[in-house]
Amino acid sequence: MGAHYEQRGQVAVITLDNPPVNGLGYATRLGVADGVARALADGSVVAIVVTGAGKSFSGGADIREFGSVKAVAEPNLLSLIKLLEDAPKPVVAAINGTCMGGGLELALGCHWRVVVPGALIALPEVKLGLIPGAGGTQRLPRVLGVENALNIIVSGEPVKSELLMMAPGQTLFAEMTQGDVVDAACALAQTKAAEYAASGKPLPRVRDLKVEHANPDAYFQFARNMVKGMAKNFPAPARCVDAVEAALKRRFDDGMALEREIFTALMFTPESKALRHAFLGERAASKIADVPDDTPQRVIAKVAVIGAGTMGGGIAMNFLNAGLPVTILETQVDALERGVATIRRNYEAQVKKGKLKADKYEARMALLKPTLDYADVADADLVIEAVFEEMGVKQAVFEKLDATMKPGAILASNTSTLDVDRIAAFTKRPQDVVGLHFFSPANVMKLLEVVRGQETAKDVLATVMRMAKTIRKTAVVSGVCDGFIGNRMIEQYGRQGGFLLEEGCTPAQVDKAIEKFGFAMGPFRMGDLAGNDIGWAIRKRRYVEKPGMRYSKTADLLCEMGRFGQKVGKGWYDYAPGKRDAIPSDDVVRMIEGHRQALGIAPRKIGDDEIVHRLVFSLVNEAAKILEEGIASKASDIDMVYLTGYGFPLHRGGPMCYADQLGLFNVVQAMKKFAANPLDDASFWQPAPLLARLAAEGNSFT
Ligand code: NAD
Repeated sequence: MGAHYEQRGQVAVITLDNPPVNGLGYATRLGVADGVARALADGSVVAIVVTGAGKSFSGGADIREFGSVKAVAEPNLLSLIKLLEDAPKPVVAAINGTCMGGGLELALGCHWRVVVPGALIALPEVKLGLIPGAGGTQRLPRVLGVENALNIIVSGEPVKSELLMMAPGQTLFAEMTQGDVVDAACALAQTKAAEYAASGKPLPRVRDLKVEHANPDAYFQFARNMVKGMAKNFPAPARCVDAVEAALKRRFDDGMALEREIFTALMFTPESKALRHAFLGERAASKIADVPDDTPQRVIAKVAVIGAGTMGGGIAMNFLNAGLPVTILETQVDALERGVATIRRNYEAQVKKGKLKADKYEARMALLKPTLDYADVADADLVIEAVFEEMGVKQAVFEKLDATMKPGAILASNTSTLDVDRIAAFTKRPQDVVGLHFFSPANVMKLLEVVRGQETAKDVLATVMRMAKTIRKTAVVSGVCDGFIGNRMIEQYGRQGGFLLEEGCTPAQVDKAIEKFGFAMGPFRMGDLAGNDIGWAIRKRRYVEKPGMRYSKTADLLCEMGRFGQKVGKGWYDYAPGKRDAIPSDDVVRMIEGHRQALGIAPRKIGDDEIVHRLVFSLVNEAAKILEEGIASKASDIDMVYLTGYGFPLHRGGPMCYADQLGLFNVVQAMKKFAANPLDDASFWQPAPLLARLAAEGNSFT
C-alpha cells in the first residue's frame, strides 16, 4: 500500500504507508495526490493532515525505485509539494518520527508542522554526492535561518527535533507534542481552518518567507572555506553552499531553478555515481541470491572465541560492544591473561579519550569470561576460531569443537588463507561450518568476509549475515579460494608493485602516487604495517605451488635484511622508535638499485598515471576472474570489500566502479600496452575472459 485516507471529524488524515520507512515511491506519491484531491472535493473536510505509518514520517526517496522510470513519474515530488502548498484548505504535517530527504521537503510544502520529540530530521542527499532536489535548499533556510539550514544540508547528518525546536526564530515546527501527534495536528488544522476562513487571508507558504542574514558575504565566504577543507574529493558540499546562498540572494523560483540545475549536474559526476554505487552496494551485499530473506535463522545469544591473540581479542570486543556474552579460550594461562589484558587496555584507552563511558567499560568487561576449558564454551551459539594459521592446529581445534559444542552451534574460522572446506571436513557437521574473515584491527575494521563453504547451510549464512549487522560490520560473501576476495586481489597488486620497483620506482614514489589517487595507504606502507614476513611466507608457498609465477625478488631481499616492518622499526621505510611516520630508507633504495643492476635493468622514470593504472588494473583483472568463477557473486561485492577493508578511495567507488567509469575498452587497451613492456609480465596482463568479453561488448561490470 502507498498511502491511506481517513476522516477524523472535519479533518482528512493521509497516512504515508510504505514500509520500512515510508519512502516516497510512485504508489505513495499517487496515494497522497489522490488523498489531497479527495479532501479538497469533500465539503465536509476543512483541513488536511499528512503523517506516516509506524515509526517514520518518511525517509525520503524509495531506494528500490532508484534509477527507474517510477522514481520520476508524475506526480513527482515537486508536483506533490506544489499540490500541498497551493491547497486552499490548511495542510499540517504530523511528523511522527524520522523525517529525511524528500520526506522533509514534503513536510516543508505543508502550511504547518507538528512534531514529536526525538524525531530525526535530515537532508542526507550530500552523502550520495547530491544536494536536496525538491526545494530543501530553498525552504529550510526560510524556516531555520541560513546557518542552521546550511549545517544540516552540508553535513547530511540527522538532528533531533527538540534541538531544532530550540533554534531562535524557527518556524520549522509550529508545535512539539508529547501526546498523539496526529491528534495535535488535527486540532491545529481545525483551528487554523476556522481562523483563515474568518480572516480571508491566504494560507502561509514557506516559499513566501524572507531569508535574512546580518553579514551574508562574509558568512558565505567563511562557509566556502570550511567546506573546501572538509570535502576534499567531493564536489557536492560546495554546491550546497551555492544553493543556500541563492535562497538568500535570489527570488524563490530562481533559487529553485538553480537547485535543480546543480542537482542534475551532480547526478552525472563520477563522485556521486561512486557514492550511490557504494550506498546500494552495501545493501546488496547483505542479500544472497539463493538465501531468501525469510530463511529461518538460528539464535545467537552466547559467543565463544578460541585463541586470544591479535584477532581473537579484537573479534571478542565486537560482541562485547554489542552486549553479547563472550567466553574466550586459550590453552595456556599466560596467553589467556595477555589476551584479556590487551582487551582491557584497548577499552581503557577509549575511556581515556572520552569515547567510552567508565560504566559501559565495566559492563563490557563483565560480559567477558576467560577460560582454559572447552566445557565452558560448549553451550555457545557461535564459536569463532582464531588460533595459529596452521592446518594441523585448526584440525585439532575443530575436532575438539565437533566433540564439545552443542548441536546447532555455528562453528566459524577466522582463517585468512586456509581451505574452509577442509576445515569443515574435520567435523561431522560441515553444514554448521563457515568462514568469518575479520580484518585487523578486528574491533575497528568494517569489513567481514563471510566464507561460504561447499556445505555451509543456508540458515547458517542467513544467521551470520544478520549477526554482522548486529556488530556493525559490512559483510560480503566469498566462495572458498586462496585469499578469498580481498587478499587474492591484493597479491596481484603487490606483485605489480614489485615490478614497478624493478623498473625504476622507489617505494615512496609508488606509495605517493596511489595515495594521491586516494588510497589510504600505498602498498609498501601497508606491507610495513601488516608485517612483510606474512607476504614472504605466502611467496615461499607460491614458489613451490606455482613455480612459473613471477615475483620481484625485492620483497624477499627486504625480508632477508630483517626488515619486517613497523613491528621491528624498519621495513620498506625506517621508523623512529614509537612512531609510525614512514621515513624513506637509503639502505632499501640501495638494495633495490643493486637488484636492478644484477638483473641488468636500466631504470626509467615512471609517471604517476602509469603507476596508478598498473596497480588498480591488476586488482580489476583478478577481480574479473573472481567474479567469473563465482567466488564473488556480484561486482559491487568486490567494491564493498575494497572500500571497507583495503582503503580504496570512496569517491572512486571501488575498483570495478572505477574501471567501469574509465570504460572497460580503455582498461583492456592499457593492459595490452603494459603487456608489451618486456620488464613487466605479459601473462599478468592477459585480460581475464570476463573482462575481455565485457570490453568487446561495450558492457560494464556494475
Ligand atoms: P596470534 O598469533 O596473534 O594469535 C593466535 C592465538 O591463538 C595465540 O594467542 C595462541 O596462544 C592461540 N592458540 C594457538 N593454538 C591454540 C589452540 N589450539 N587453542 C586455543 N588457542 C590457541 O594470531 P592472529 O594474528 O590473531 O591470527 C589468528 C588467526 O586469524 C589466523 O588464522 C590468521 O590467519 C587469522 N587472521 C589474522 C589477521 C591478522 O592481520 N593478524 C587477519 C585476518 C585473519
